[in-house]
Amino acid sequence: MTSASGPRRSLNARAPVAAALAAVAVAFFVGWATGPGSPPIEFDRADAAAYFEHSGPNTLDTAERYRSRSRAIGLFALASEIALLAFLAFYRGPPMRRLLDRASLRPYRGAAAIGALLAVTLALAGLPASLLSFDLGRDYGLITQTPGGWAGDKLLSLGFSVLLFSIAALVAFAAWRRFRGRFWVAASLIAMAFAVIWLWLWPIAVSPLFNRFEPLPPGPVRSEVLDLADRAGVDVGEVYSVDASRRSVALNAYVHGIGSSKRMVIYDNALETLPPDRLSALIAHELAHVESKDLYRGLGFAVLVIPLAALALQLGAAAISRRNADRADGPSIVLPLALGLAVMSLLISVPANRLSREIEIRADYRALELTDDPGAMIGLQRRIAVSNLSDPDPPALWQALFGTHPATLDRFGLAEAWRREHPE
Ligand SMILES: [Zn+2]
Repeated sequence: MTSASGPRRSLNARAPVAAALAAVAVAFFVGWATGPGSPPIEFDRADAAAYFEHSGPNTLDTAERYRSRSRAIGLFALASEIALLAFLAFYRGPPMRRLLDRASLRPYRGAAAIGALLAVTLALAGLPASLLSFDLGRDYGLITQTPGGWAGDKLLSLGFSVLLFSIAALVAFAAWRRFRGRFWVAASLIAMAFAVIWLWLWPIAVSPLFNRFEPLPPGPVRSEVLDLADRAGVDVGEVYSVDASRRSVALNAYVHGIGSSKRMVIYDNALETLPPDRLSALIAHELAHVESKDLYRGLGFAVLVIPLAALALQLGAAAISRRNADRADGPSIVLPLALGLAVMSLLISVPANRLSREIEIRADYRALELTDDPGAMIGLQRRIAVSNLSDPDPPALWQALFGTHPATLDRFGLAEAWRREHPE
């Protein structure tokens, strides 16, 4: 076998496609087996009009318009990303050959440079969609950030991804060279280790680069968090407020981190504008995630799904590399690996989102048990839908593919069912 590049061959995609489909099927099964299950009461999707009539006559139309444009931009962004990665993985015209031959001279340095190139070209390809999305958000009053602040954020994340992509490309190339047919085993172990470290490090090392976090001072909200946590029998770690208002008017809260980085974070927008009963509903929902160990559920899903997905990735990258007649030992493998990673992540996100929707509606149910206040839950979801301009009833196909949370109307439906089952 020669290590130099030769003439192109045809692409044999049978094995990678079969492995990718098997990985998706396994992911659906794992999601079904590890999920918390549907809430133990029957509920129907509520009717939107009844809930939004007091929020102003155009609320639903505005949200619908904003979200349909935002979905179009999202699809455009996804298509640009995949198109760019496919071009880089398959195009082997003379300029690309020269570039890859040059990278092969010092292959490890070359792999890192290809990683940096990927980060920069992806940022450039994503720029039009990113600008459109920023502009749309400003038009609808959802985004409050100035263009300067936005550009600063973009530069910061670009610097961050150049660093991250270079390291990832270097590690992937080293594993490819060293482990060959067992690349997928090494890649799985690395991905799992990375997931754990990321979960631990993200809240303490990454998010503070973009926002200010402050421990919630003693007061009614902190007491309510501790009180609800006590009722649920969970340890929340530290409770922070975050200055989300510097970018957006969106309302939210989340739990993140493991071990020493474990925390609940509440958006300052929510702390400042939500009445106490709705804030309690929000906090109870987040506590339900802690109680049901949903972060670990996500981690478990990843551990069980990653190996087969990594095998599909390996087979796909090898098939593209053979088709291109790339140097067998060269850092050019980083390019088909990047395309394969993007495609596999997209495919696996469908079953992962299905699991996420189940986890979210189940957390709503537990929050209702903790607060016994369906009115506050409905008020909270309505308020979130209005201020985040969410479409309370997104298209079914979009929701099935990309929805990480249940549709607002399903969440209303659950709260109504709870009210029916628990009359005062
Ligand atoms: Zn949630």
